[in-house]
Amino acid sequence: MVVGLGFVPAANGEIALLDAAAGTLTLAPDRATRARFDVRREAGAVAAARAGARVHEPAVTASGERVAVHINIGGPADLASLDSTMCDGIGLVRTEFLFDGRTADRLPGEDEQAEAYRKILAWAAGRPVTIRTVDAGGDKPVPGYTIEGELNPFLGLRGVRLSLTRPEIFRVQLRALLRAATAGPLQIMVPMVSVPREMTAVRSLLMEEAAALDAVGIARGAIGPGGVMLGMMVEVPAAALTLDRFDTDFVSIGSNDLTQYTMAAGRDAPSVAELADAADPAVIRLVSEVVAVAKSRGIPVSLCGDAGGDPRVIPHLLGAGLRSVSVAPAVVAAAKEAIRAWPSEHRGD
Ligand code: PEP
Ligand code: MG
Repeated sequence: MVVGLGFVPAANGEIALLDAAAGTLTLAPDRATRARFDVRREAGAVAAARAGARVHEPAVTASGERVAVHINIGGPADLASLDSTMCDGIGLVRTEFLFDGRTADRLPGEDEQAEAYRKILAWAAGRPVTIRTVDAGGDKPVPGYTIEGELNPFLGLRGVRLSLTRPEIFRVQLRALLRAATAGPLQIMVPMVSVPREMTAVRSLLMEEAAALDAVGIARGAIGPGGVMLGMMVEVPAAALTLDRFDTDFVSIGSNDLTQYTMAAGRDAPSVAELADAADPAVIRLVSEVVAVAKSRGIPVSLCGDAGGDPRVIPHLLGAGLRSVSVAPAVVAAAKEAIRAWPSEHRGD
């Protein structure tokens, strides 16, 4: 990926070489640079074809360890051209698609939400599906729902913080998720958790809505092992450092936000893009801590930020003990290849 280019002083008609893998843009390259670029491009195309041919095979490290590779989606539409055999399940459904473009008086109803979740479960054909409760705010404003005019919305009322202040909206989503869970293995994941009381509050709301559905005889998925599990994202350093204190059935590390909050470098700020590096030792140390604590508690742990699909960062994540990732569908093949190449003797990972 190339970010933070700012103004590019290219002349009209001038040749420019964009190398997304290396993160470089070369203007007016000389003949030797162009030749080297062509060799790299050719090798990249061969590697991509080889990875693509193996996308339906499981990811197993060079030392024989199986690593689960799930996909991240932004709604059922993303699945139209995908085959579920490419992945071990869906590790992140961003449900903001249901709220986008809606006004406060037309937020998505329970039936509409349940239908969307069922479609996703049907596609997954029995593979686990982790659906995240709405993560509005910060980089994902929803007009009429998120707070307007916050000075720093990334540190404001977003994710679970907002959901808990609007329980009448949150309860609708929890009911829809419980109803959809009759259609397949569904996990509910809570975004932007910072302190244990947030998870406690979500679990009480979930139990209350389950009881309310039972009271009127509406079918729902069972809650607990073998049924609906309630887990949290670890995106805030406070949660990463105190995971032992949380009531959670599973954990997924949101490395996009965890990186920006650890490095104090905005995920969408080109001027500090170099600092916002998920491979920085500070971030990797937090990942190791989370993996170790989750494993010691017997809680499944995965990672669903972009770092999980980045061949440069994958060796660090595997080195930190992670054995499950969830990545954008477009990078599943490359991520599996990077996992297969680990550990590499040359890099000493
Ligand atoms: C993350 O923060 O890493 C994440 C997966 O969530 P999002 O990118 O939707 O904030
Ligand atoms: Mg996030």
